[in-house]
Amino acid sequence: MTSPLNQTLAQLDPEIGGLIDREGQRQRDSLRLIASENYAPTAVMEACGSVLNNKYSEGYAGKRYYEGQEVVDEVETLAIDRLKAVFGAEHINVQPLSGSPANLAVYYAFCKPGDTIMGLSLDAGGHLTHGWSVSITGSFFNAVRYGVRESDHLIDYDEVYRLAKEHKPKLLWCGATAYPRVVDFSRFAEIAREVGSILVADIAHISGLVAGGVHPSPVGLAEVVTSTTHKSFRGPRGGMILCDAVHAKRIDRAVFPGLQGGPHNGTTAGLAVAAKLAATDDFKAYARQIVTNATALADGLMRRGFSLVSGGTDNHLILCDLTNQGVPGKVAAHALNRAGIVCNSNSVPFDKRTPFDPSGIRLGTPALTSRGMGPAEMDKVAALMHDVVSAPENEAVLSRVRGAVRELCAGFPAPGL
Ligand SMILES: *Cc1c(COP(=O)(O)O)cnc(C)c1O
Repeated sequence: MTSPLNQTLAQLDPEIGGLIDREGQRQRDSLRLIASENYAPTAVMEACGSVLNNKYSEGYAGKRYYEGQEVVDEVETLAIDRLKAVFGAEHINVQPLSGSPANLAVYYAFCKPGDTIMGLSLDAGGHLTHGWSVSITGSFFNAVRYGVRESDHLIDYDEVYRLAKEHKPKLLWCGATAYPRVVDFSRFAEIAREVGSILVADIAHISGLVAGGVHPSPVGLAEVVTSTTHKSFRGPRGGMILCDAVHAKRIDRAVFPGLQGGPHNGTTAGLAVAAKLAATDDFKAYARQIVTNATALADGLMRRGFSLVSGGTDNHLILCDLTNQGVPGKVAAHALNRAGIVCNSNSVPFDKRTPFDPSGIRLGTPALTSRGMGPAEMDKVAALMHDVVSAPENEAVLSRVRGAVRELCAGFPAPGL
């Protein structure tokens, strides 16, 4: 009998093993349009599940608290050097456990409780951690929110300027979680410089596009840049902070010992692998294809009568306002999921419904792009979505679309599974 400690997952715990297999099957057989999701490459997954999991490494390379860091120091240094080359940043901290902890570390580096900060409102596409009321960032800090214009759903830079001048925030956050257009980092930088704020660009969603050169980079414009590593960047679940050299010490101290203990070394190794991939021409082609696909999906939806926030997209994501279809976002998202098309319901700007029962759905193309799909497939997806949203309660339609989705997926094997 093998010791339980050496048994495989299937041997030791078929219950959990079976559930993971089922999730793999779901990811293989469905069209995953959640804008923050992707397929991590096999090598990234392998690094994450490696023996690095067993090592404790509080501190930074060359300045650790425990012995035995010969290998981990090299892993972390490689991750940092590769990411510096990809993003052109002066300093990078790869230890934040995810995007929200990365953002919290930035607050801790520069703010005291009660300080004023400013960010894009959640209902206009901002993230919880940019000062939303239910987040720690909205309750520990005095959060001022800017929005988008009702006429074109674009960030109103004049409003940002006016509010920043009036409130003089310590941190000015830009970047979003549901904004389909290019963020004008230069304009934000001008405003921050004039009012004396530190500009923080949160590129959690678009870091893959920035790395691939299809969205302008905030590096050199924002003194601090935060990101997740698992969305369009296609790495392990994690976070990172890029900053100017002058802020390096403050940021590092805020992450450890300020906010966290030991870094997840397997994740760091996975991030180094993702950074190696991000430096290739294949990655640039992938980033371009994400945008091409989002544009194709947006066109396909608009041709079929869907109304899109801001009238389209410049990046990887689409916000669809279903008010004119007479179908609430949740009803649509639920029916789509049953048909194998997975997305999330989402508020649209100036939503007349509640955040828990909003008017829209959010769609993104990174995962489908990682499967190798292109514009022709996006048009098929738009057609299938139209079929479902036109008849969300028609079982025959859902079942026919489910079959078509399976067939489409079979032609484009998902990486990393
Ligand atoms: C996803 C996201 C985050 C948070 O990342 P988690 O890893 O989920 O904590 C932060 N900011 C933005 C803009 C995001 O889209």
